[in-house]
Amino acid sequence: MNNNIAFQKCINPDCNTTYEVNRQLTKCEKCGNLLDVMYNWESYKQLKSVLLNAFSERKNDKGNIFNQSGVWRFRELLPFFGNIDNYEEYSKVLVSLDGAEGNTKPFHLSQVGKYVMGKVRFDNNEKKVIETSTELLSSDEQEFMRNNFYLQFEGANPTGSFKDNGMAAGFTHAKMLGVRKVGCASTGNTSSAVAAYAANEKWQAVVFIGKEKIALGKLAQTLEYGATTVQIEGGDFDDAMAQIADVASDINLYLMNSINPFRLEGQKTIIFRVLDGLNWEVPDWIVVPGGNLGNSSAFGKAFMELKELGLIDKIPRIAIINATGANTLYRLFNEKGLRWNKGHVDDKIIEEHYATLDKENIKAKTSASAIEILKPVNLKKALRSLEFTNGVVEQVTDEEIAHAKAIVGRNGFGCEPASAATVAGTKKLFEKGIIKLNDKVVGILTGHQLKDPNATINYHSDSNNIFANTPITVTNSREDIISALK
Ligand SMILES: *Cc1c(COP(=O)(O)O)cnc(C)c1O
Ligand SMILES: [Zn+2]
Repeated sequence: MNNNIAFQKCINPDCNTTYEVNRQLTKCEKCGNLLDVMYNWESYKQLKSVLLNAFSERKNDKGNIFNQSGVWRFRELLPFFGNIDNYEEYSKVLVSLDGAEGNTKPFHLSQVGKYVMGKVRFDNNEKKVIETSTELLSSDEQEFMRNNFYLQFEGANPTGSFKDNGMAAGFTHAKMLGVRKVGCASTGNTSSAVAAYAANEKWQAVVFIGKEKIALGKLAQTLEYGATTVQIEGGDFDDAMAQIADVASDINLYLMNSINPFRLEGQKTIIFRVLDGLNWEVPDWIVVPGGNLGNSSAFGKAFMELKELGLIDKIPRIAIINATGANTLYRLFNEKGLRWNKGHVDDKIIEEHYATLDKENIKAKTSASAIEILKPVNLKKALRSLEFTNGVVEQVTDEEIAHAKAIVGRNGFGCEPASAATVAGTKKLFEKGIIKLNDKVVGILTGHQLKDPNATINYHSDSNNIFANTPITVTNSREDIISALK
């Protein structure tokens, strides 16, 4: 199954070793760095209008599930599977959850837009939430809220998180290799997605999780979809990741973590849909939570390739948001000055930081369990994205995340805590004057609210939380109910 359009390549410019597309690798055999999927797509250049027309025409899917899929609708931009023109050929190899993944687009969430600008706030003297009425906003503020601020709700994917985008591509690569057994370490959403895609393909899935380190909804999905679920006692994501990476080849497992470069190809389509939703007008900012930094890496690669292909001229800045309890990127980037530096990353800074974490037995700790990760596997690729996009890294507390999450809910959407880091981070960057009123901003909401019901219930059960909506308890009597609601 060789094809001449795609190959794998080490990200280290001093190594640059290439590998065939039909190999299952998670790192460079020579130097141990991450790999990219690369393309010889000279023939595509100058095809801007042809490609944009094709993407647009496929919205009338004509019953083709690969046009329905928000990943494969953009198949020319991740053509590692070879023949993109011939339905007979590509329909045999592309994996999709029957066209369901990636049907997302950017939305305006005006209440969240107001919150980000500081116009929905808690007044400590009056002890209540004060919301500036829309009429009192300046015209620039109204413009920001109504037209310049978007959130793309990746929680609308079939398993409730953006991970499905990656699985469509990762499973396609696995299928090209004839693999029928896949696995991952997970904080819950990867395992849900792996389990669902494996179920749909009738393959075996094996997932490693830290016991009690995974939100309720995610564990429920993983079990229901039939994955063999291994809980590591006393372990967290970083432990599960280290274990599965170590044993994967012994138990003949194709690894679906974001260390897998093919998975990240699917996650590029999150950006294609952002741009498609904005009629290919490039925003000023993309804001995304940072966990294993797969999205941050995939987004940067997407922009590099779109620029190379002439589909965009401008590059937006990427803002990556860490939780303060899992802030490796924030610390390395902002405090220790770690940079991609054209590929010459100072490995010593990373090694010393990780050695300190190990020595002092420091573990990630945040209620945003999807980003509760201290050793992000895609660290270097994320640094590359930051350099290419002139990006920034911010961090937010669990409290800031919880309030931001409640505000997303008030827009009738709803996301899990990690996703709300996007909103809390945007607010903070706005306060600091880094994101400006006239900027066009697209935040990615990575996962669905129903994933982590405990986080939501805990917040709303405590009336001290400023946006809490505590339930009203009444006795089972008509009078009591009426008097409580009058
Ligand atoms: C996986 C996940 C993240 C972290 O994304 P990375 O690409 O690993 O940085 C954030 N939010 C949710 C909901 C996730 O499932
Ligand atoms: Zn290498």
